Amino acid sequence: MIIVMQPGTPDLEIDRVNAELRSWGLSPEKITGRYKVVIGLVGETADLDPLRIQELSPWIEQVLRVEQPFKRASREYRHGEASDIIVSTPLGPVPFGEHQPLVVVAGPCSVENEAMIVETALRVKAAGAQFLRGGAYKPRTSPYAFQGHGESALDLLAAARAASGLGVITEVMDAADLDKIVEVADVVQVGARNMQNFSLLKKVGAQPKPVLLKRGMAATIEDWLMAAEYVLAAGNPNVILCERGIRTFDRQYTRNTLDLAVVPVLRRLTHLPIMIDPSHGTGWAEYVPAMAMAAVAAGADSLMIEVHPTPAKALSDGPQSLTPDRFDDLMQELAVIGQAVGRWPKTPVAVG
Ligand code: PEP
Ligand code: MN
Repeated sequence: MIIVMQPGTPDLEIDRVNAELRSWGLSPEKITGRYKVVIGLVGETADLDPLRIQELSPWIEQVLRVEQPFKRASREYRHGEASDIIVSTPLGPVPFGEHQPLVVVAGPCSVENEAMIVETALRVKAAGAQFLRGGAYKPRTSPYAFQGHGESALDLLAAARAASGLGVITEVMDAADLDKIVEVADVVQVGARNMQNFSLLKKVGAQPKPVLLKRGMAATIEDWLMAAEYVLAAGNPNVILCERGIRTFDRQYTRNTLDLAVVPVLRRLTHLPIMIDPSHGTGWAEYVPAMAMAAVAAGADSLMIEVHPTPAKALSDGPQSLTPDRFDDLMQELAVIGQAVGRWPKTPVAVG
């Protein structure tokens, strides 16, 4: 349920309404939007009479029920406003959101050694990316495949972060590694295979860094938003949703089926920012540029692109990785589409 306050409602009045709701045994959440303050109520609200709430204050404009099973993740929970998620990076805050410039995240699938991660960071930064991605802990289908260098790769990510000024995004697979990852990462990634690892979701929800939640390969949109709800319910309001392709029947020519329709669908259903990953979404470097451009044209807020200095030698996901040169060209191509849809230049907007 949400309580929409009139524009200009005094803070004291909002505090008074919240105190009253707390005295009823509820846990109100104050959500400050661009134009209005909304009070969110999640939990045992089925028996609450909206009229009784309405009587609490003449400043209450409306009392509405959130019909979706995902409450905090729903667009209604913010009374239709999109959330800006502002991520701190060494070069300053970078906002993700519907009204913000496109944010580009690029880097190798796995962190392999210091030279390659620093080189990739500098190249993608020069091309216009704001975040470096790179896995230290890798979820691999085969236990015999390269599993990532683990903790030592986190140090290499820290070195690349310091050398480039880029924010760092890296995946957590095991909650036991979370504290170490949070020390280095500006955004913590939960991968497709862990999208419904509910105990992990609760733990990333209880730490302060923003969370990048990839869509499970067989997850419906509702499954995915319910997974986001776990993170939000655990107290972390900063969740970015990343579509990375779902499993359909064709595995011969594409690795996954990139579901670009999620961009308008999520826009209607949720206030959370939307990222598209055409690298995992297609599985082949030659298809990545077309789908990256389509994602920007569709209105995505962010892109995640795998880039490797020598894809043929990559320890994971080489076939879908762009060379730094190809990434440079892609960024020029994206600028044309980005300008056309008003999401460029994507130089970080200073906030606060
Ligand atoms: C990755 O980002 O390298 C990765 C493993 O992604 P996903 O979880 O989408 O497969
Ligand atoms: Mn990968």
